[in-house]
Amino acid sequence: MSEQLIIAGERQPARSGETFDVIEPATGAVLTEVAKAGTEDVEAALAAARRAFNDGRGTWARTSATERGRVLHRVAALIREREDLLATTEARGAGHPIGDARWEVGAAAATFEYYAGAANKHLGSVVPVQDAGLDVVLREPVGPVVLIVPWNFPLLIACWKLAPALACGNPVILKPASLTPLTALLLGDILVEAGVPADQVTVLPGPGRLVGDALVSDSRAAKISFTGETTTGASILRASADHIARVSLELGGKSAAIVFADADVEAAAADLPMAVFGNAGQDCCARSRILVERGAYDQFLELFCDRTAQLRVGDPLDVQTEMGPMISAAQRQVSLDYLAIGTDEGARIARAGAVPTGTGFFLEPSVVADVSNQMRIAREEIFGPVASILPFDGEDQAISIANDSDYGLSGSLWTGSATRAIRVARSLRTGTLSVNSNRSVRVEAPFGGFKKSGLGRELGMHALDAYTEVKNVFFAE
Ligand code: NDP
Repeated sequence: MSEQLIIAGERQPARSGETFDVIEPATGAVLTEVAKAGTEDVEAALAAARRAFNDGRGTWARTSATERGRVLHRVAALIREREDLLATTEARGAGHPIGDARWEVGAAAATFEYYAGAANKHLGSVVPVQDAGLDVVLREPVGPVVLIVPWNFPLLIACWKLAPALACGNPVILKPASLTPLTALLLGDILVEAGVPADQVTVLPGPGRLVGDALVSDSRAAKISFTGETTTGASILRASADHIARVSLELGGKSAAIVFADADVEAAAADLPMAVFGNAGQDCCARSRILVERGAYDQFLELFCDRTAQLRVGDPLDVQTEMGPMISAAQRQVSLDYLAIGTDEGARIARAGAVPTGTGFFLEPSVVADVSNQMRIAREEIFGPVASILPFDGEDQAISIANDSDYGLSGSLWTGSATRAIRVARSLRTGTLSVNSNRSVRVEAPFGGFKKSGLGRELGMHALDAYTEVKNVFFAE
């Protein structure tokens, strides 16, 4: 029995009858089979979503924002009720340590709770124009939205897109990553059960190059929100250009953590390993470049390596585990290749992460020291458990190294000086920055990237702008 896809709220097999295997990263074995959507399913999904949006009164778009908020509260409650199922599915399907997976389920519910409350607080305005009359600015749903998510945080990233899109009254078509479609399908069931009208909800697992591309190329997709690789984001922009779709992109990163010698170096060294190695380094916000002021460099490196050596790598279903497997053997090989590249470029492997014996796609964390910002391991996103440590001299050099990157997604700044924190924070070209902390994402605050890290912002009230059109109406006196 395979997991079926969801079109207009109904579970169904793919029209071709095809399925694909989902592999459990901790074992390398097949976890389950999932229906594999193709172009005929895309056609059915887009036609249904367009109908659901165009049908006029009685649709989700015309449902009051307050009522939409009530439904989203029920979604959050069902997510909390099903914590065990969702967390276990994420742990087995994506390799997340079960403690992290439980936290993610809570954060997924909190995302729906936030947008449940926000739905009727996204206000229009009245403009004092020169003509005699009343000029009002309205916010209206944009239309069918295509939400494409990656495999690294399948449940959470889906919720960051679904909750604001639905709060604004749009039909949703969710395209999960082929490696991790399971929690997306569970979410689709939850949406319908909570009372989102069935015709507004589609979940289409299937190959990105076929299903994703067909969805974004079609003029019935009014809005596209994508998270994934920068090159895929660029191809989506090209594919959707002719029909002028609204596009938001959350892309790659090579985020810097800057540790000044005046910081609490012990606190920084204790906290930073999980900011690089959390989710086995498969995190767009990973602090994969750690810049340390020369006066504190040796002390930091020793403490960082000590803490890294203590990280518990192992079975995601064990509550003690801090780092699970990587998503696939191919993704693990990318990290191993970068370690070899770093060595060839002259960096020093301060701690080499071994491939443990046994099944699954595990890789222990590695620390590469004496890295220069010109090396490929400092410039390219590795998306694995590899930390690059770079020495610097003084504030100006730290800012210049941190900003010398194609990316600008996240970052941290560790210092004991409030004035330095203000100066440096203002100088860094990054969308999200934490001072004396490594947390990147808060549901209440905007999240997104500068430069090649993306276009537009998710989360907070900013996300609501991305899922609405602005309409200006003038009423003559
Ligand atoms: P990909 O870009 O390969 O895939 C992301 C999603 O896009 C998947 O659902 C994929 O489907 C789909 N897709 C692939 N090709 C196309 C296409 N031509 N048109 C439309 N959709 C397509 O990224 P990964 O899944 O490999 O995710 C890892 C990357 O995502 C990393 O580089 C990371 O930095 C970035 N990322 C960024 C985040 C951010 O918030 N900025 C957050 C998380 C990750 P399929 O799986 O079937 O190929």
